[in-house]
Amino acid sequence: MSRRAVIKTIQHRIAGSETAGASSRTAPVWDPATGERQADVLLAEAADIDAAVHAARAALPDWADTSLMRRSRMMFAFRDLVEKHLDDLARIVTAEHGKVLEDARAEVVRGLEVIDFACGIPQLLKGEYSDQVSTGVDLFSFRQPLGVCAGITPFNFPAMVPMWMHPIAIATGNTFVLKPSERNPSASNFVAELYAEAGLPDGVFNVVHGDKVAVDAILDHPDIAAVSFVGSTPIARYVHERATANGKRVQALGGAKNHAVVLPDADLDRAADHLIAAGYGSAGQRCMAISVAVAVGDVADPLVERVRDKAQAIKVGPGLEAGSEMGPVVTPQALERIRGYIGSGIDAGADLVVDGREVDVQGDGFFVGPTLFDRVTPEMDVYRDEIFGPVLVVVRVGSLKEAIDLINDNDWANGTAIFTSSGRAARVFQRSVQVGMIGVNVPIPVPLAFYSFGGWKQSLFGGHHIHGPEGVAFYTRAKVVTSRWAEEKVGLHDSGHLHFPTAV
Ligand code: NAD
Repeated sequence: MSRRAVIKTIQHRIAGSETAGASSRTAPVWDPATGERQADVLLAEAADIDAAVHAARAALPDWADTSLMRRSRMMFAFRDLVEKHLDDLARIVTAEHGKVLEDARAEVVRGLEVIDFACGIPQLLKGEYSDQVSTGVDLFSFRQPLGVCAGITPFNFPAMVPMWMHPIAIATGNTFVLKPSERNPSASNFVAELYAEAGLPDGVFNVVHGDKVAVDAILDHPDIAAVSFVGSTPIARYVHERATANGKRVQALGGAKNHAVVLPDADLDRAADHLIAAGYGSAGQRCMAISVAVAVGDVADPLVERVRDKAQAIKVGPGLEAGSEMGPVVTPQALERIRGYIGSGIDAGADLVVDGREVDVQGDGFFVGPTLFDRVTPEMDVYRDEIFGPVLVVVRVGSLKEAIDLINDNDWANGTAIFTSSGRAARVFQRSVQVGMIGVNVPIPVPLAFYSFGGWKQSLFGGHHIHGPEGVAFYTRAKVVTSRWAEEKVGLHDSGHLHFPTAV
């Protein structure tokens, strides 16, 4: 039997069943650790999106009408299944993404936190009530689901980022169509199985795999009320423009270039450890990765020395292999792009302190090692572009003010951090930087699920951050009721005059 013949094809999951639908195109799903094509994934046509939306629409009236307590209990059941299968889900993530298993487990745990949050939906959806606002008149508000919502997600957190969306969308009474990254599709199909096992009715959660064709069909579909997108900035901007032009509610989270400022009064060993973890964890493929270290004053030389030594000691290897600290990058194209940026940094005159191209891992996996550039300046491509690989660049500045100006001149504004022992400096920093998420002696300030997550500027298009209270607001809309059950004919709307009613 030829090798090609045993490669499986990953299908969509619509209305509770696997289906190929109208799809005939496929994309490869790599094993990044070996370089082998381990599966193909179907790429949806517009008809497949239509079928998923049809299923979601059919399921909507009953689901939106299901009591809060039942929805909450279903979320608890789903939550328990995700926890039970945490290791299975982590293995699926590592197999297709490449990140080391412990990192994949941590991603699932961070996703689980959003499900925990969604379990509390009865509390989160409590409305407001004002008794007797006018004589015999009460005023109250409550929130209702939007309808069919869609999620379009990136490759770098195949379990967690979709979980930023669907638990809240579903708990608030919507039905959902997920279009995950075509580079690592299997986690989403597994999650669909867990939802089914938890008792979620067919059609409430659907998974359609695909590329731009599927995304465009989502953005244009008249029966989709809202789109949540997480991915790179150009696509986030495009998704936001096209879907809002079609009348949809949109939140579109984009790319990042996150700076960590190290002040001379910082604990340098700890700062270096944090830079290593946040710069090279998941091979730098995190939207909250630190990709720029801003060294203030005379901290630069000792900081670069420490980061160099620690970067060289990182064990790079397959994500499933015990002892690996950093896995491969996701595709051969990503490997080429990152290697290209290392060349571009050298050409631009930056000091290459650690060269990840020299990494020594057996086989044909997509490996590039931790890379460190020093004396990088803002006009260089390695500073300006999101490399999305294990490349950390050091920019040297003279003062905290220069560091803040550098950050505020940058178009991206997802996360940033400061390392210092001065509360005053930290306070100036947190108040002055134009960035959505800030860490003080914390390198990856990803908020817990009961807060919302989101950047500013080119890192977010649309008015809502994701998950937390803003997630609940995004997936619902408010109704305000003015109600009179009193016998007597007095009060608001009952004045008997044509002028605008006022409370009495
Ligand atoms: P991507 O933008 O290439 O893909 C994201 C999604 O968009 C995928 O589902 C993909 O199929 C789809 N897509 C790709 N090209 C498209 C096109 N031309 N038209 C329509 N749809 C298209 O992003 P990625 O490479 O999968 O993920 C990495 C990026 O995501 C990085 O920029 C990273 O910073 C960003 N990211 C941001 C956050 C955040 O919270 N801000 C979180 C995770 C990742």
